[in-house]
Amino acid sequence: MPDTLKSIAVLTSGGDAPGMNAAIRAVVRKGIYHDLKVYGVKRGFEGLIHGEFREMNLGSVADIVHRGGTVLMTARSPEMKTQEGQQKAIEQLRMRGIDGLIVIGGDGSFRGAQALSAQGIKVVGVPGTIDNDIAGTDLTIGFDTAVNTVVEAVSKIRDTATSHERTFIVEVMGRDCGSIALQAGLACGAESILVPEIPFDLDDIITKLRRGHRRGKNHSIILVAEGAGSAYKLGEDLHTRSGFDTRVTILGHLQRGGNPSALDGVLASGMGGKAVEILLAGESDMMTAYVNQEVTGVPLSIAFGPRRPFNRALYDLAGELAI
Ligand code: ATP
Repeated sequence: MPDTLKSIAVLTSGGDAPGMNAAIRAVVRKGIYHDLKVYGVKRGFEGLIHGEFREMNLGSVADIVHRGGTVLMTARSPEMKTQEGQQKAIEQLRMRGIDGLIVIGGDGSFRGAQALSAQGIKVVGVPGTIDNDIAGTDLTIGFDTAVNTVVEAVSKIRDTATSHERTFIVEVMGRDCGSIALQAGLACGAESILVPEIPFDLDDIITKLRRGHRRGKNHSIILVAEGAGSAYKLGEDLHTRSGFDTRVTILGHLQRGGNPSALDGVLASGMGGKAVEILLAGESDMMTAYVNQEVTGVPLSIAFGPRRPFNRALYDLAGELAI
């Protein structure tokens, strides 16, 4: 271990995601295990700039591993995008003798981390966002839980859809990434899955609904990622063009909450621990990643590179299974 590393800090930034608490716990406990002083920074970069630090002990992270949200809270900080804001953040860290910063968040948060790294702060990013839209890692913390939340919600919606013989259009999160819609749609057998990556054809959807209807199917679920188009407009168009009784449900922020799934708990613990290991090894400007079922470290810049392509094969399979 380079003998310079004595104190580290951890913050959560951007949208919250289930499993962030498990990652915080892992950072704090692994850090303390290695005799580091560990600070928690409240409210992301906003708290970093304004000095909202508190020294963490083993008890600070007791009883949080299974809880959604983030005990450190999160915020968006426009000030962090300015040189002045970044200077204030750096001063806050230097004033306390903090040698390394772990940023748990999405790619926006990683831009902030990268800016600090460029100015001499040792940083490691931990990908925490339900969207699973960060390049260089197969999974981000929170994605699996969000998919499970959608599957659970859709199974409840299906009960009422069946009883009333309705077509339900369920909007899920994903402004420019259809991963939640795709995985949840396949897992819950949605009749159609609409994602931002692939344009949809209303006629195809209607043809499929009619075909199902002819063979006695009395309800349908259409899962729409928010970036694929307006769920309400789709509902109206479908009703006008086909006569099917449609209803729209927007799952919204429900998808951000809840206890992390076992997979997210394991992933978050692994990534939090790995982030500390990276700092202990004297490395910086890195991101923890899940690659081929292993938690590893990759350069932070990979997060801003080309994203893994949309899983077209899985999307086509979902279409084939929902004939
Ligand atoms: P999510 O994927 O859940 O939206 P995110 O981390 O991408 O998470 P953002 O709102 O994009 O969320 O970014 C979080 C914070 O990161 C911003 O409020 C800002 O403080 C910081 N940030 C974003 N972009 C930059 C940048 N270019 N330079 C410095 N800081 C940035």
